[in-house]
Amino acid sequence: MEEKKGFNNNNKPNQKPGMPGSKPPTGGKNKYWIYIVLLGIFLVFTFVDFGGGSENKIGQSKFEKEMLLQHDVEKLVIVNKEYAEVYIKQDKLADEKYSDAAKGGPFGFGGSAGPHYTFEIGNLENFENKLEELQKDFPPEEKISPDYKTEHSYLPDIISWVLPLALIFGLWYFIFKRMSGGSGGGNKIFNIGKSKAQVFDKEKRVKVNFTDVAGLEEAKVEVMEIVDFLKNSSKYTQLGGKIPKGALLVGPPGTGKTLLAKAVAGEADVPFFSLSGSDFVEMFVCVGASRVRDLFKQAKQKAPCIIFIDEIDAIGRARGRNPNFGSNDERENTLNQLLTEMDGFDTNSGVIILAATNRADILDKALMRAGRFDRQIHLELPDIVEREAIFKVHTKPLKMDKDLELSFLSKQTPGFSGADIANVCNEAALIAARKNKKKIEKQDFLDAVDRIIGGLERKSKIISKEEKKTIAFHEAGNATVSWLLEHANPLLKVTIIPRGRALGAAWYLPEERSITTKEQLLDEMCSALGGRASEEIVFGKVSTGALNDLEKVTKQAIAMVSYLGMSEEVGTLSYYDSSGQGDYGFTKPYSEKTSELIDSEIKAIVENQYLRAKKVLKDNMDCLSKLAETLLEKEVIFSDDLEKIFGERPWKKEEEKPEPANEVIIEEDKPDSEK
Ligand code: ATP
Repeated sequence: MEEKKGFNNNNKPNQKPGMPGSKPPTGGKNKYWIYIVLLGIFLVFTFVDFGGGSENKIGQSKFEKEMLLQHDVEKLVIVNKEYAEVYIKQDKLADEKYSDAAKGGPFGFGGSAGPHYTFEIGNLENFENKLEELQKDFPPEEKISPDYKTEHSYLPDIISWVLPLALIFGLWYFIFKRMSGGSGGGNKIFNIGKSKAQVFDKEKRVKVNFTDVAGLEEAKVEVMEIVDFLKNSSKYTQLGGKIPKGALLVGPPGTGKTLLAKAVAGEADVPFFSLSGSDFVEMFVCVGASRVRDLFKQAKQKAPCIIFIDEIDAIGRARGRNPNFGSNDERENTLNQLLTEMDGFDTNSGVIILAATNRADILDKALMRAGRFDRQIHLELPDIVEREAIFKVHTKPLKMDKDLELSFLSKQTPGFSGADIANVCNEAALIAARKNKKKIEKQDFLDAVDRIIGGLERKSKIISKEEKKTIAFHEAGNATVSWLLEHANPLLKVTIIPRGRALGAAWYLPEERSITTKEQLLDEMCSALGGRASEEIVFGKVSTGALNDLEKVTKQAIAMVSYLGMSEEVGTLSYYDSSGQGDYGFTKPYSEKTSELIDSEIKAIVENQYLRAKKVLKDNMDCLSKLAETLLEKEVIFSDDLEKIFGERPWKKEEEKPEPANEVIIEEDKPDSEK
């Protein structure tokens, strides 16, 4: 958007309106004066009666008695059968009583030529009869017989035609102006079908380069190769190879897809067109296809170049069998055009398309086929080494404590994306600033991590003693079971201070693993159910606090039975549809009988784990109570406290360090109002 500078009439920059000597900017006024003039003209024409001579209007009886019967009238003209114009004889005009008529009315009315007076005649026939009656004794040469004329005023007609048309045109102009907003200068209405891509080239450079992208080494190699394809295409084509047409960056949100594309723009040294999938689609009008056409036309003119389409799923979603009934023709047309363009131009024309999405599974198969997006570059959540590198990039501008090790921070943040890490760094700086520190310390980072995972601490939230006890036993139940089961994630911190929307929370340190075994899943389910089990054992009644746990556990059980083939009864089958194009929304791929079996298996898995959790707790009632009491007393406890109560975990693994780390938060014990 163009930035508006504070210039005024005096050409003094940045002088604010209202300051001495300043005049309001005239730009806005200039725009509207024409409307004010038009409105003025309209009002004048509506309310000023030019021909009517309202100033010399008289009553009918006055006309009869003082003019007609005195033989003063020269001529009478009846206009539109509505009123009469009276012409007084020239020699009589000199009379005192006609002094007003002789002067003349507004806009030249009256004067010596006349008409000098007007009056309403009422019913024409009655008037004519009356005229006849009054003149019956007049000599014939003195008798006045009226003339008739019709005067037509075109103004109301014109207004009644023009005004609605002007309104319709104005509305149309306004809508199109709004819709084509931002599509470049000039006449915006006619730019609506033009591509909205931002172009970065020699004049307008992107300042991001590959050093700003930490980790993602394999992805960087892939995209660098794409840059090389464009720069040294002959190296590849001379051996008969074809340059790929497109590469798709796929990965969870915040893993750096856009950042990587920006780095490509910064490094490529070729024109770079950047736009988002939603830029093709416009409300009301079908412009997607023409925007795609225009984009490729522009790109071909600037070849070799790169087109980057962010969030391509906005237009690239699978066509046709769309379970949502709102399947959108406009989107499909846009996609069809994109497919045509991608496979429509010469292989070596030097336009490479980069696209990013975090939903590759829902993209249309035709879009993904070789020849369009030949390459898929998968970006994963960063591992411990990559996280350290990302911290390095984002802590560069921060004033940090010298002793703070980035490897420590990366250990605290398993499962964090690059965007989360950037957020942690910023949040830590803000926390340190709030405390008026000169440098950002370790604790600020830990607080930032806690805040990002669990939300803000709400120490002031009013919780009754009873509730606090329930929360403490609930959290203690989760902690006890997870501590005592081999495959559950080791617990590192438990708190019963309300944080974000949760009333209590537990922090775990998950292993950095790529696959999960059935035993691990079951142990995790069991420890999640520990909270509910503890409530039942200790208080003999259950509360709503376990909602999150139950939701998580149920989803896990459904996945185990229906998708992961982990139920013996159902068998090693998976009803998962990774393509997202099946019509499972309507029909289930299994029979009613299997459906019942799946239900019973899901129930059995959760039941078994619940019983198991209860057993673990019953066997360790002393430790559970001690833990709950410690929690009530301290409100926050760490793995050291757990170790004091339970002793060392027998299956403690090498990489498990006793440092408090943070990962999955289990939000529990939410008040009913927040559910
Ligand atoms: P989405 O799919 O939600 O659009 P994305 O994968 O495109 O997400 P980006 O916009 O690229 O994510 O990343 C967001 C921010 O996260 C970046 O601006 C950057 O600050 C940070 N970031 C992500 N990954 C990295 C990385 N590898 N190195 C440095 N910073 C990163």
